[in-house]
Amino acid sequence: MAGAGNAIRGSRIGAGPMGEAERGEAAPRQNVTYFCSGGHRTLIAFAVEAVVPESWDCPRCGLPASMDSENPPPAPKTEPYKTHLAYVKERRSDAEAKDILEEALSTLRARRKSGDLIF
Ligand SMILES: [Zn+2]
Repeated sequence: MAGAGNAIRGSRIGAGPMGEAERGEAAPRQNVTYFCSGGHRTLIAFAVEAVVPESWDCPRCGLPASMDSENPPPAPKTEPYKTHLAYVKERRSDAEAKDILEEALSTLRARRKSGDLIF
């Protein structure tokens, strides 16, 4: 029987990397449902061996979705881009604003002294 066994083994070479496709066996899958804060439900089929990610971008609205239907991830804040001036105003205290005013005034005085007639 040793000879027959070798013949069978030989015939399987080249049937496929793993042979599953030839036998028609679907790889085992795990279905994971993700919920986004937009109320969408997304079913993703992962291979059993795959590491299931904790979050998944909703294919319908692009929001992050999680497996917890009760606590979908919050939508990322979409704050309007702050203007540079708004950013500066927020950062500077009143004291700093006074310093800046003083600096501007001293510059103005220096210019007047040097005879640079702006006003
Ligand atoms: Zn969504």
